[in-house]
Amino acid sequence: MESVLFEEDHEAYRQVVHQFVERSVVPHQDRWAEERLIDRATWLEAGRQGLLGLAVPEEFGGAGVTDYRFRAVLQYEIARVGASSLQSGFSTNDDIALNYLLRHADAEQKARWLPGFVTGETIGAIAMTEPGAGSDLRGIKASATAVDGGWRLNGSKTFITSGILADLVIVFANTTDGFSLFVVEEGFDGFTRGRKLDKVGLHAQDTAELFFEDVFVPRANLLGELGQGLTYLKQSLPLERLGIAIAGQASAEAVLAWTVDYVKERTAFGQRIADFQVPAHQLAHLRTAVEVSRAYVDRCVSEYNAGTLTAVDAAKAKAWATQLQHDVIDAGVQLHGGYGYMLEYPVARAFIDARVQRIYGGTNEIMMEIVQKDLLR
Ligand SMILES: Cc1cc2nc3c(=O)[nH]c(=O)nc-3n(C[C@H](O)[C@H](O)[C@H](O)COP(=O)(O)OP(=O)(O)OC[C@H]3O[C@@H](n4cnc5c(N)ncnc54)[C@H](O)[C@@H]3O)c2cc1C
Repeated sequence: MESVLFEEDHEAYRQVVHQFVERSVVPHQDRWAEERLIDRATWLEAGRQGLLGLAVPEEFGGAGVTDYRFRAVLQYEIARVGASSLQSGFSTNDDIALNYLLRHADAEQKARWLPGFVTGETIGAIAMTEPGAGSDLRGIKASATAVDGGWRLNGSKTFITSGILADLVIVFANTTDGFSLFVVEEGFDGFTRGRKLDKVGLHAQDTAELFFEDVFVPRANLLGELGQGLTYLKQSLPLERLGIAIAGQASAEAVLAWTVDYVKERTAFGQRIADFQVPAHQLAHLRTAVEVSRAYVDRCVSEYNAGTLTAVDAAKAKAWATQLQHDVIDAGVQLHGGYGYMLEYPVARAFIDARVQRIYGGTNEIMMEIVQKDLLR
């Protein structure tokens, strides 16, 4: 059963994305992984091709397209070539940082920041997690103290996606009225970046620690209202989790396709691997699971477009699709035999990249907390 999510416009857009991926992503993936960084030029090229900041209103240089299916097309095409690090950078930029700005920035801030999200000149990051607090964000220690004309921000953040490249970081910090969101920009005194973190996977992703030492944040860089950070966070999480769910679904579909191709080619004991009943049934089960899951993830996209995607359904989609991604990739590695363990094979890279999908954006255990609270209240 094929997905019926996309229409003609989305398929036309897919051609643009496809060309971008083939020309500007595929040839560079190995080097990015070695350098632990994606070229800025790639972001600029994505901007030129109209792949970034689609939701930015026309008055700020964007296309004003809020139909999330276009973002989904980008996710599926990037997953097709296993460029998970790029996917996570683009998602953090568009689904999280930009989403906060679109929702909560005032007119002056929008004019200042949004155009760069369309051209790729501004890369955004979100800094919530700290060394001592991740799932339980109420435990964060970063704090901002009111001073003449703004605030002094102190604290440190860790595991920040695009932490090295980011030009604009939305920082979650304690204030006297609760939690607030501050926009810290490249060049602010006292804002420094730590090393690129050495991760299990997502090797091309410049995940980093960030440090804030007496950083002066002017009043004009407070995002939304003081003390409303937690409320804003709750409003934004469904989209962040939908983005991760689609990345999981897209990766599961891609890896399943690579594995089917492989078992049809590879032979053992005088026959194709595909002709042994155990692998054949395993792949049949996975194909079934992937199709059924796609129906739910597609429905979440439609609900998001209609403004009705709930935090609970987004949590289900995130947990489900990322677990399925794990199951498919694990089987994919096994069915590739020893080659499945070699990083020159995309399935092996998908294996190490996928592990974090069940951790970030809220761990899958936290997703089940959200679901059980709704179920058992
Ligand atoms: C590659 C990568 C990129 C990331 N990017 C960003 C980013 O851009 N910005 C950002 O702010 N953060 C980012 N994160 C952080 C990520 O969101 C957190 O790591 C995640 O939310 C988990 O928090 P923690 O690491 O503190 O784990 P902990 O909260 O310490 O959790 C440890 C374990 O305890 C479990 N646990 C905790 N509470 C409960 C509970 N109530 N019930 C059951 N089990 C529970 C968790 O599920 C987990 O298994 C990133 C992380 C990684 C690895």
